[in-house]
This record gives sequence, structure tokens and C-alpha cells, in this order.
Amino acid sequence: MQTAFWGIAFSLLLPFSVHAASTRNLYLVLITRMGTVENQFCAELISDNGRYLLKSEAHKDIILIPETPGAILSSGKYSVTLEHQNLKTSTLQVTATIHGDSIKLLSKTPVDILLVQQNCLGETPMSNAWNSPFSGNNDSNAKAFLRRIVGKFADFRTGGGDDGHRHAGIDLRGGFGKEVYPINDGRVLAASFKDLSGGVVIEHLLPDGSRLYSKYVHIQDISVKAGEQVTPHTRLGRLFDKASFKKSRYTHNHLHLEIRKDYEDKGTDSSYRETRKDLERHCLDPEKFLGALLTKKLAHTEQGPGVSN
Ligand SMILES: [Zn+2]
Repeated sequence: MQTAFWGIAFSLLLPFSVHAASTRNLYLVLITRMGTVENQFCAELISDNGRYLLKSEAHKDIILIPETPGAILSSGKYSVTLEHQNLKTSTLQVTATIHGDSIKLLSKTPVDILLVQQNCLGETPMSNAWNSPFSGNNDSNAKAFLRRIVGKFADFRTGGGDDGHRHAGIDLRGGFGKEVYPINDGRVLAASFKDLSGGVVIEHLLPDGSRLYSKYVHIQDISVKAGEQVTPHTRLGRLFDKASFKKSRYTHNHLHLEIRKDYEDKGTDSSYRETRKDLERHCLDPEKFLGALLTKKLAHTEQGPGVSN
């Protein structure tokens, strides 16, 4: 998977004085290119040494530096930087306009950013049984899942403009337009609506209180929003149709599936050169992880009726 870059114009909406807030300043961030939403995610706005930081759970952080420093975010000129560990950042000059609870950051590039204040970092539902991302709860057969794998975890890849990278997930073959579903209950952290690299990130809460994240890439016609709670029955989107597959030049029409322990790398580990050990700090091998869980589930199911997972 490649990391994509945006030209950015932002629109931001900030209702409160940032420094005085005892509650968290949470925003739904919409990054648009030529008027079309390209990325959507939740972020917390923090005032930090005369600048503002939009801290996201599963996306690059955004830094806003006002031309005239001040404690309260106000309409005016800002420099906006996308910050991301180990990767280059891009900086834009933008004009912010604040209306009610929304902030618009408009730049001279085709990209704008809109911040709408709302609590989109809500509760994540407890996870349940694990499923194949193609099941919609109908087909979670471990063997069928494993047979779909056409790209392995940690494979070394070249092309796509970087120096080569290790594959942070697995590639699962699927038919044109095949619908994709969450592998467990969870909450949507981010969505990218780009034509060939669109995807969804979901947070899962495990019974022991820990969290895991699943990421579904190369999907289109995405039907969920950041902050939304989902179940394995919630349609996320679908794989490429024939025309998009042709444009993509991939060997197989496939879903790129990642399972992560954290998002400290903002989800871009697979975008630069690193060792398998580095990759495994943030990512699990979905073939092993989900393969084992689906096999266990199948064994349970075969024990007979009355077993729920
Ligand atoms: Zn992949």
C-alpha cells in the first residue's frame, strides 16, 4: 500500500477557546480535494505553545501555526503541516474562517480542510466473534479465508515510488465488486475515499481491555463514516469493479488487510524501508492471527448447537 499525499485546504470549525476547555476538543476532520472528500478522521485539537495540534488516532497529525500567535483559535492566516514520524511532511499556507462549530482551512492548492466539532471519538463496542472480511457473517471458514491469500505479510515490495517496503498486511483475492465487512465489532477511526487506495480503519476493544485495529484497503463505494460503530454485518465498501481493477494494474483484484496492535506509526509502516522486526512492533500477521481464530471458531461450531462463537 502506498501512502498518499494530499494537497490540503482545510476548513476548520472551532467553537471554544482551546486553552480553557476542560472537555476534549474533538473534531471530525474532512480533507477535500477539488470539493470532494478524500479523507475523513477524528482528531483532538490541543493548544500547544502558541500552535495548535490536531492529534489523530489513526492518521497523520496536523499542526496549525497562526501567523499571529494567540491562545484562541481564530479566523486568520495559518501555516498547516502534516506531521508524521519518519516521513516527509508537507506545509501549506491557509486562511482559516470560523463559523459556529466549524473551521474551514482554505489553501491555494486543490485541497481544503474542514473541521467540524463533534464527539466522534466515542465508545468502541466490545469485540465478539472474529470473521472473514468477506463474510458479512455468512462465511467465516478458515480454509476459504486462507485460500484467498495472494500476498503475504512482511513480503518485500518495490515500486510505487518508494525504495521498497515490507508488506504490512496480507492481500486477499476477491471477485469484482465483492463486498467487504469488518472482521469484528468496532468503531471506525478513519476512512479514505481515494479511488485506488481508499480504505477504512476500525478499532476493536478486546475483552481484556486491550485494543486491536483492522485496516481494509483498495475498497471503493465506502459506506461508513469516522466515529461510526460497526458490526460484522456492516458493509464497509466493495472491492474494485473491472474498470478500476484495470487502472490499478494489480495482478489480482484484492483486499489489503492489516491487523495492528497500535497506530503509533499513523498507519504508514508499510510505506518505507524497515525490517520485519520493526514491522512487527505495530502489526500482526493476519494470516496467523485471523487464520488461528477462524480455525478455532470452526472447531467450536462443529461441536454442535448451543455454541455461540
Ligand atoms: Zn497489500
